Amino acid sequence: MTTKSKVIVITGASSGIGEATAKLLAKKGHRLVLGARREKKLQEITDSINSDGSQSIYAPVDVTDLKSVQSLADLALKQYGRIDVWMNNAGLMPHSEFIKGRVDDWNRMIDVNLRGVLYGINSALPTMRKQKAGQFINVASVAAHSVHPGGGVYSATKAGVWMISEALRQEEAAAGSNVRVTVVSPGAIATELVNHVTDPDQKKAMNAYYDQFASSPQRVASAILSAVDLPADTAINEIVLRPTRQG
Ligand code: NDP
Repeated sequence: MTTKSKVIVITGASSGIGEATAKLLAKKGHRLVLGARREKKLQEITDSINSDGSQSIYAPVDVTDLKSVQSLADLALKQYGRIDVWMNNAGLMPHSEFIKGRVDDWNRMIDVNLRGVLYGINSALPTMRKQKAGQFINVASVAAHSVHPGGGVYSATKAGVWMISEALRQEEAAAGSNVRVTVVSPGAIATELVNHVTDPDQKKAMNAYYDQFASSPQRVASAILSAVDLPADTAINEIVLRPTRQG
């Protein structure tokens, strides 16, 4: 453990960007607290992280449940006594056109992508205020900045994450709390995200799109590492990164 070792909580850590970020940050000496619904996956990831002497723990978490998210924060405090970084990463992207009426998908996106982020902020901010230090890393998307047919609800949730993050940044700056806020807005990254698209037409189109050039979650993790390791008096407020060939 380095003297700069931070306690970092990551939601949606059972695959993709969350998993890659957990593994990289642990390798760099940070202590990880991982949450997601798939406990077996979390167990495998923490076993792999801890096998080389790095430190990580996990708990099953559903970010749509306020108590469940709070319990993840409580676990971090019980185990490590502080929360330096909270990464609101859990998310899903079941695109569909409005005419398909996939109301369940709309609600899941609102619950996970938007409510989940608010619950994360609610669970960690009081601790960061007390510490007079901390950082939120909120995973939005390039879809926070643009929209296309089928992506209306997803873009709305991700634009919401952007707005929530910017308001939080301004509030914490005004309070002098030293709490940093970083939005991460990736383009196409090869993860399990497309697997959960329920509309067959969208799934086919997205698989074809991602197959052209999707980048790896490890690239996103490297960018996040730079935002975490930056000295505390400066914040990277947004990282927008795309595969170079993505239009
Ligand atoms: P993955 O599907 O690989 O990861 C999503 C993670 O979210 C999983 O660990 C999943 O775990 C978790 N999750 C989903 N629902 C819940 C829930 N209710 N409670 C807790 N955890 C949940 O995709 P990515 O790694 O790509 O996605 C990570 C983030 O990146 C998302 O916010 C996504 O919108 C964003 N993003 C991804 C892009 C891409 O191209 N891949 C582009 C732009 C943004 P479990 O099922 O175990 O609960």
